[in-house]
Amino acid sequence: MKARLLATALSLLAAPGFCSPAFDQLSAAAGSPAMPAPAEPQAGAFDQLAGDTRYWVSVGAEDKYDRTGLLEAGLDIVELKPAYVSGFIEKNDLDQLAAKGYITTTRQPIAEYAKKHLKDFPAADAAYHNYDETVAELRRLAAENPAETSLISLGKSVQGRDLWCLRVNPAEKGENPSARPAAFFMGNHHGREHLSNEVALGLAAYLLARKAEPEVKKYLETLDIYIAPLTNPDGAEYDIASGKYRWHRKNMRVNADKSFGVDLNRNYDSRWCSAGASHSPQADTYCGPAAFSEPETQAVRDFVTAHANLKTLMSYHSYSSLILYPWAGKDAQVENERDRKVFDSMGKAMGTITGYKPQKASDLYVAAGDTGDWAYEARGVFAFTTELEGTSFYPGAAMITTAVGKNVKAALYMLSVTADPYGLAL
Ligand SMILES: [Zn+2]
Repeated sequence: MKARLLATALSLLAAPGFCSPAFDQLSAAAGSPAMPAPAEPQAGAFDQLAGDTRYWVSVGAEDKYDRTGLLEAGLDIVELKPAYVSGFIEKNDLDQLAAKGYITTTRQPIAEYAKKHLKDFPAADAAYHNYDETVAELRRLAAENPAETSLISLGKSVQGRDLWCLRVNPAEKGENPSARPAAFFMGNHHGREHLSNEVALGLAAYLLARKAEPEVKKYLETLDIYIAPLTNPDGAEYDIASGKYRWHRKNMRVNADKSFGVDLNRNYDSRWCSAGASHSPQADTYCGPAAFSEPETQAVRDFVTAHANLKTLMSYHSYSSLILYPWAGKDAQVENERDRKVFDSMGKAMGTITGYKPQKASDLYVAAGDTGDWAYEARGVFAFTTELEGTSFYPGAAMITTAVGKNVKAALYMLSVTADPYGLAL
């Protein structure tokens, strides 16, 4: 498929106010003579989705209450417009939407959706890092910067992959405790959101390449920085394992009904599964059989709990161009006025830097059990979610440089306030 034609097609999909900046970049990239021609789809390229019973649908939804109800009905909301939302839903859940009062305006099997909307094939996205390449890059950074870094595993995934985390702190290595204020950056809770892995990796590479420059040097001398690019390595690998994308969001847990996958960003123990999540194992928003039922979320929980010095946290997702903060799981703002000021202030600053829209997560829809709510509620961490830019989960390799550039700047801002977040509430 020609990138220029697809850019035009994508403009029809783009939600106003959410995706326009990314679309502009895509157009610019498509017009650049330096861009290699995208690969043509091959015969049988979509066969790996033939047995996938999900549909891409658009459903009328006027407000966040409608959207929350749709999440609970099993819809995995991907795009928002003023009067409706679009996303993936299991056939069984789709069949029940009308009885629940929802009006579906378009529907197509995921294999058909893929034919129309896939931009690049993994071969054309070679700039993205798979699991092995991510581990190799983390090892390279650690090996080339032995005085500043150490590599730790936060735990193992369902399929036994390590959740690697690069620690940037010249004073303490490995699991040694530190009295320095800590910042924690995470990527890829959701398998198909590969750009989030790239942003976390890009941040690590940036800090170490500029470790002698005054601003970065200051953070290396005063902070304890952790970067874990792949929180859901199994899901990310499964998404690309066939050589073609599978739009896979969840982890790779085999559920009781033989379906697989739990939505890790609905599995944290904060008002778990009380809103915006599904108890149906087949649903893309399945919250799991219990809070913290999954080894990946357990690993994050144990890491956060063990690091009392943690002040700030950023979890990268894609896509919508948003900076989100608590509460996500209830329709309310953070009650503590001082904390609220810090969240508002940090959100606004990072929104200005990235061009993304800052807001409390529940303004979008109420969805309980996410990383940010839990880290703030349980440990008082100023925890954010960034929905990166783009008009697709597979925005192409050209998006990496722009997304990393903006989000590294926002991360540097986060590091600049990590020593004293409450300084923003004075
Ligand atoms: Zn996500």
